[in-house]
Amino acid sequence: MKPSPLKYHRPRSIEEACQILAEVDGKVLAGGQSLIPMLSMRLAAPGNLIDITGIDGLADITASTQSGVTFAALATHASVASDRSAARTQPLLGRALQLVAHPTIRNRGTTVGSIVHADPSAEMPAVIRLLDGSVTVQSVRGRREIAAKDLFLGPLESSLETDEIAVSATVPAVRPGVGTAIDEIARRHGDYALVGVAARVSVADDEVRTAHVTYVSAGEFGEVVDFSDVIAGASISDARDPKWNALSEAARHRIETEPDIHATAAYRSQLVAALTARVVMAAAVDGASSLTTHQAALHVDSGVNQ
Ligand SMILES: Cc1cc2nc3c(=O)[nH]c(=O)nc-3n(C[C@H](O)[C@H](O)[C@H](O)COP(=O)(O)OP(=O)(O)OC[C@H]3O[C@@H](n4cnc5c(N)ncnc54)[C@H](O)[C@@H]3O)c2cc1C
Repeated sequence: MKPSPLKYHRPRSIEEACQILAEVDGKVLAGGQSLIPMLSMRLAAPGNLIDITGIDGLADITASTQSGVTFAALATHASVASDRSAARTQPLLGRALQLVAHPTIRNRGTTVGSIVHADPSAEMPAVIRLLDGSVTVQSVRGRREIAAKDLFLGPLESSLETDEIAVSATVPAVRPGVGTAIDEIARRHGDYALVGVAARVSVADDEVRTAHVTYVSAGEFGEVVDFSDVIAGASISDARDPKWNALSEAARHRIETEPDIHATAAYRSQLVAALTARVVMAAAVDGASSLTTHQAALHVDSGVNQ
């Protein structure tokens, strides 16, 4: 099939793009990796396409411990994943982007586009929500920032107004003693996940303190699930601690799953149970190692200052 008739616009500035979007019924085109198939299958039929890829200065990636990582609207998955400063500042970004699709798609698809597309089977909405990030949007009325907790209204539905363009997204920097991890099961590497799990865990004294989890293709889209009541106090170095098994069972009961042509709900629940414990454990180990690195750095600093 071909897209239904539409008018193509290629603005040269974000202001021009906002002006067009304020005047017509249109869709923003970024990497086109989701939108073009949707147009071709006529799942979307906007009267106008506003292609923002001709706008200069919209692909920057900046990273600092104070402000976290900010990636602009045209930064591709591949460029965010390979940015060393971004990887140091918030390692979960790169870990998650390795799971997004295939290299050819990551070379064109944008991370901001993936976030505002709000697909419950995509990794980056789960990541920005877990990290409590935000998206900055612009329209003819000016700019505003949308916290990730207010961004996802439902499957493929974000809280951007129809005339707003996302200009960038930001996630906070990693903190010592807080670890993150993500893993998923897909039928083939690069396919959308049957179930994916991302976790943020705080640790101290070889024990888990808090554990927050978001899900891909399971649970309520956009929700952060707090498992601290089940897993706080669990030993990080002893996987036989009964709390880890209790975490699996808690996840199985708390997280709802749906069947589709790829997997039954029962199989997805089994993946939720197994992956939740595995990913929370990996995040806990990551948190413990960040603490060790931080303490070693403080030791070196104090030695230098003596
Ligand atoms: C075969 C295949 C496999 C894939 N597998 C995965 C996967 O495993 N995991 C995954 O997460 N994704 C996957 N994707 C999707 C891919 O990651 C897309 O790149 C991403 O979802 C959308 O980014 P984009 O830049 O291509 O956006 P586009 O396709 O250009 O746009 C997508 C939607 O977001 C809107 N939009 C985009 N940018 C903006 C903006 N700046 N402001 C306002 N609205 C905007 C568009 O209007 C449109 O509604 C896959 C895609 C394909 C084709």
